[in-house]
Amino acid sequence: MLLDADTIVAIATPTGRGGIGVVRLSGSRARAIVEPMLRLRRPRAHAQARFAAIVDEAGTVLDEAVVTYFAAPHSYTAEDVVEISAHGAPVLLDHLLRTSIHAGARLAEPGEFTQRAFLSGRLDLTQAEAVNDLIAAQTLHQARLAAAQLGGSIARAVAPIKHNLLTLIAGLEAGIDFAEDDLDLMPEAEIEQRLEAIRSPLAALARSFTYGRIVREGVKLAIVGQPNAGKSSLFNQLLERERAIVTAQPGTTRDPISEHLAVAGIPVELIDTAGLREVAATPEHEAERQGIARSRATLAEADLVLHVVDATTLNREELPAADLALRDGLAARPSILIVNKADLNPHASAQRDAIRTSALTGEGIATLRQAIAAQLGAQAAGDGALVSSLRQSEALRETVGRIDAAKLALSNAVPHEFLLLDLHAALQSLDSLTGTTAPDEILKRIFSSFCIGK
Ligand code: GDP
Repeated sequence: MLLDADTIVAIATPTGRGGIGVVRLSGSRARAIVEPMLRLRRPRAHAQARFAAIVDEAGTVLDEAVVTYFAAPHSYTAEDVVEISAHGAPVLLDHLLRTSIHAGARLAEPGEFTQRAFLSGRLDLTQAEAVNDLIAAQTLHQARLAAAQLGGSIARAVAPIKHNLLTLIAGLEAGIDFAEDDLDLMPEAEIEQRLEAIRSPLAALARSFTYGRIVREGVKLAIVGQPNAGKSSLFNQLLERERAIVTAQPGTTRDPISEHLAVAGIPVELIDTAGLREVAATPEHEAERQGIARSRATLAEADLVLHVVDATTLNREELPAADLALRDGLAARPSILIVNKADLNPHASAQRDAIRTSALTGEGIATLRQAIAAQLGAQAAGDGALVSSLRQSEALRETVGRIDAAKLALSNAVPHEFLLLDLHAALQSLDSLTGTTAPDEILKRIFSSFCIGK
């Protein structure tokens, strides 16, 4: 891909009025383009903010602004960058934009500033992707993970693995080149062990996508159970506000209602469903029947199911038949059994793995939150690198697949030339992860999802 040498401009702040609005330029002509629009109080200097009056063609003052200048290559894009922080008046920002374009700047494409940072080698592809994740973050936990990735966590995790792969390739190639000179070939056991040392951290990184995806995309959590078990009350408790209607009349929740909250920094869509009881096929039960059908559909889509049982319906620790059936139906799914209304039946401990709650007193709600966090794998998030996009996970999975092919070739005593083909393919897919080699259309797809001005 050719490095676009032209100077780009964009309004970097969201549309609408605001206290401050930022117009950003990057490229070799950035300074020259803004020159006529500004009257600086003191000469500009790298990485220094300067007061400036913004003036029109006649020299009349339009605004007071702060202008920052970053000299190439010590800027976000590695080019000359000028940022004008004016008052956030759309007409004013638009004027700055149009005047810049009139003076020869080009309107930036979405993500083009970050794309330039990538093309200049300031950021690798996983870091560029993290910029977008950071902007899209809904919870601080998401922001933290994106920031770690922006800081190069994936690149750092991959670097020693890539080094090992390159060393192995070089060793095997030397063995082939000098085979006639009686140079000792690398023993098979050593190749095997080196392949495993490459494979296992890659596979671990690929596995981190399970949690990385949950953090990035959030999860659906469905509350199910018999009518009157206290589902809506628990829903409200988890939300910490009244949203669902709570009545003593069974069968009141008809349409599943949903709300967003965060558990352990993971965005959660919490869905309260209609009670899953059997109802007669009569017209007066039609609405409830439809509600139950929708509940079943919601249940099928949920990433985690909270199965609520009314403690007063327990028969000496045993779940009622309907709940036993529901629990069996959930056996293969991530779910949490909750014995609610614990205040009414203090002796009910029910199943060993159940969590006792009272939506009335708030007892057990904190424990429930912890259990949800644990189920979502929150405890698995150590300091290690976390893969957060499907693209990254697929690049890793493909690399692991190539290493597996090499291992198989080795065990079949295939000549090293063929082994090397697999290893070179592994190297290539590993490089696609960080973008050392990434086809244009992949780059296009990634950067087009950015906002303009980033
Ligand atoms: P749903 O039909 O499963 O959504 O149940 P609701 O949340 O509407 O609650 C049904 C009834 O049980 C209401 O009268 C609630 O006030 C009551 N309830 C819910 N949770 C508890 C609890 O933990 N303790 C007590 N004592 N009552 C509860």
